[in-house]
Amino acid sequence: AFSNLSFIPLDPHYTLKKIFAADDHEKKVILGSGIYRDDNSQPWVLPSIKKAEGYVDNGQNPGRYEYLPITGYAPFHHAARDLLFGPLNVSTEHFVSLQTLAGTGANSLGARFLKESLNPSAVWLSDPTWVNHHNIWSLVGVEIKTYPYWNAVNRGLDFDNLIHTLKTRATKGDVIVLHACAHNPTGVDPSKEQWKTIADVCEQKGLFPFFDCAYLGFASGDLDEDAWAVRHFLSRGTLELAVAQSFSKNMGLYGERVGAFHLSTFSAEAATKAQGHLARLQRGQISTPPSRGARIATTILATPSLYQEWLLDLQEMTSRIQGMRRLLRDNLVSLGTPGNWDHICSQIGMFSYTGLSPEQVDIIRTDHHVYVLRTGRISIAGLTTANVAHVAKAMDAAVWK
Ligand code: PMP
Repeated sequence: AFSNLSFIPLDPHYTLKKIFAADDHEKKVILGSGIYRDDNSQPWVLPSIKKAEGYVDNGQNPGRYEYLPITGYAPFHHAARDLLFGPLNVSTEHFVSLQTLAGTGANSLGARFLKESLNPSAVWLSDPTWVNHHNIWSLVGVEIKTYPYWNAVNRGLDFDNLIHTLKTRATKGDVIVLHACAHNPTGVDPSKEQWKTIADVCEQKGLFPFFDCAYLGFASGDLDEDAWAVRHFLSRGTLELAVAQSFSKNMGLYGERVGAFHLSTFSAEAATKAQGHLARLQRGQISTPPSRGARIATTILATPSLYQEWLLDLQEMTSRIQGMRRLLRDNLVSLGTPGNWDHICSQIGMFSYTGLSPEQVDIIRTDHHVYVLRTGRISIAGLTTANVAHVAKAMDAAVWK
């Protein structure tokens, strides 16, 4: 019955991992997924998380394996909401929050809910964006349109075309997916003034903003600063909006699947009704979300001393990444690699859109065992003081070839 199915190629990330695993060269390096690694290329369990695990796994809570409510662990999604939105200037009764299967689950629940409730003629995704946005929105059957984002010539935001496209082509009721901070894959975010203009356009055109917030704390190292765009949209008081929030990266809880979906509406009645529908969708998909990761995250968010330790851990990750950006740029400059490499330092978050062409990516892979997606995006978290010179030499050789 299944032999007539079309062939679906493996996601490029997983293909990259597979061929990397099969390479036994001693200098091989992978700069693929956005997963933090320490300077020894090892996974890093945040010290603050280790302490929180101690509280959660102490075996004293007889209810620790009980089901959570359908909407998840309430202390978790309230703490997650407060972290993201800060002190609210609107009533919490206008808000709905659910615990989800990390950021992916929040994107997916949001897409299903918005498809049902708004029935948009299209969803607008940035070009480029996280590949799974395309998958998630095509699974719910909403037409996908893209707005320009990356200007390859100046290696920055294609802001004028972004605005022009939305103004001339988007229609009332369309959903627009925006990266709250540390845009994946480009590492380029709008400035505050540019965010205000994007919010103006959402207002003027009646677009529904759906923020994807997978890297809170990774853009500036400051959580409030990174939440600025989301808070600005909310503070205008003129827009209803949704946010998909992930704790995979900023707490290093990747496999625990910790995240939340938040919806801000104009009334308590709207919020109550929306919550009913979101709970129905959640029930049909997963019944209730997993509890351990949410309890660990809540322990961090609700314990002032642990929260302070977590901020230091976040800082350690972001400053290591910034250090690696500088080292890679400096290595390229001292090698005399043609071109300007300052964008590696000015881009933010875990990624750099290097500007390497697919052919150059192939060269660094086959000749130098450095594994990068063919878009030229590198995960800076994969660089270490031990491998950065090798990566720079590989890039240099590819650019000269
Ligand atoms: N959104 C973006 C933009 C991402 O980069 C990621 C992770 N790669 C996610 C959402 C989802 O991550 P997770 O499901 O692990 O929270």
